[in-house]
Amino acid sequence: MPIVSMRQLLDEAAKGAYGVGAFNVNNMEQIQAIMLAANETKSPVIMQASRGARAFAQDRYLYHLMLAANELNPGIPMAFHQDHGNSFETCKSAIELGFTSVMMDGSLREDGKTPSTFEENVEVTRRVVEFAHPRGITVEGEIGVLGGVEDGHGAGGTGLEHVTDPDQAVEFAERTGVDALAIAIGTSHGAYKFTRKPDGSVLKMNILIEIHKRLPHTHLVMHGSSSVPKDLQAIVNKYGGKLKETWGVPIEEIQLGIRNGVRKINVDTDNRLAITGAIRKVLWESPEKFDPRDYMKPAREAMAKVVAERMREFGQAGHAGDYAPIPIAEMAKGYQSGALDTRPSLAGAR
Ligand SMILES: [Zn+2]
Repeated sequence: MPIVSMRQLLDEAAKGAYGVGAFNVNNMEQIQAIMLAANETKSPVIMQASRGARAFAQDRYLYHLMLAANELNPGIPMAFHQDHGNSFETCKSAIELGFTSVMMDGSLREDGKTPSTFEENVEVTRRVVEFAHPRGITVEGEIGVLGGVEDGHGAGGTGLEHVTDPDQAVEFAERTGVDALAIAIGTSHGAYKFTRKPDGSVLKMNILIEIHKRLPHTHLVMHGSSSVPKDLQAIVNKYGGKLKETWGVPIEEIQLGIRNGVRKINVDTDNRLAITGAIRKVLWESPEKFDPRDYMKPAREAMAKVVAERMREFGQAGHAGDYAPIPIAEMAKGYQSGALDTRPSLAGAR
C-alpha cells in the first residue's frame, strides 16, 4: 500500500468514530515498535517526526526507515507527519522529503517558544496550506498555546495560560483551510503535566466540545496526551531513575475527546518512559552486559506494548483493512475541486 495522506486516515477515523494515535519516532527501534503494535492490533499508523527527530536521525535515515516500515507492512495504511513545524521552510522541506502531512505550529514564532499573534499564525499557516494542498498533502494547524516544552518547542507554563478561544478557532479554520486543528485545552508536553491527579475539571473539555460543534469538518488533535502511567514511572525509578511524581492525561478524557471530534492523539512521553524503563532494568540487573541488543530488544518490546494498548484504547485497532489507499495525486484533485474543503462556510454547504 502506498503511503497515504493523514487526511485520509483521519476522514476514515471520523467515519468510524475512532481516534488515531500519532507516535513520535527518532530511530529504527521506535519505528519497529509501532509496526509490531500495528500488526498485532491491525491498526492504521501515523508516524511523526519533530524537527529534533529529523536533526537527530538525519532526514534521509529517518525517511528510509519509515519507507522500510511501509514496504514490510503492505496491509497497514500509514501516513508520515511533520510534528510541530516551526516555519514555512520546515514544512516545505518535510513535504520535499516525502512526508504526506505537516503540522504548521504557528501558535509560536519561529523560535518555538514565543507566542505569536493570531494574524501571524493565520498568515504562516495559510501559506503552508497553499503550498501543501495542491500537492495532496495534509496540514495540521494549532490555535492557542500548549503548555510545557517538547523537543525545545513550547512556551512553557501549565497549558492553561492560552486556552483556545472557540471564536478564534472558527475564524482560523475559515481563513486557513487546515485539515486538522490542534487546540489548547490545558494539556502540556513532556512528563510533567499535572501535579495532582486530574479530576475531570483540569482539562477544558467543554471548549473542545464547543469547537467540534462549530467546526464539524475539521479534525481535532490532542497534543501532550500521554497518560504517564504510574507503572511505567515506577519501573524507571525502581532501577535508578529519579522521576518526580506526576500525572498525565487520563485515557477516559481522551476517549471523551474522541466522542467529540478528536481524531489524532499525540503520544510520545509514554513511549520514552517504556523504553527507558526497559533499558534501565537490563543494565541494573545485568551490569555485565554490553551488547546493545540486550537492552534495545526489551526496550522495543516495551514500547510496542504501550503503543498496542493506546491503539486499542483510541479505537483504531481492527481498522487497518477498512479502506483502499487514495493516491496523493487524487487528494490534490480533491482539494482543487473543493471536495476536501473543510472551511466552515464551504463545507457546511456541501
Ligand atoms: Zn505537540
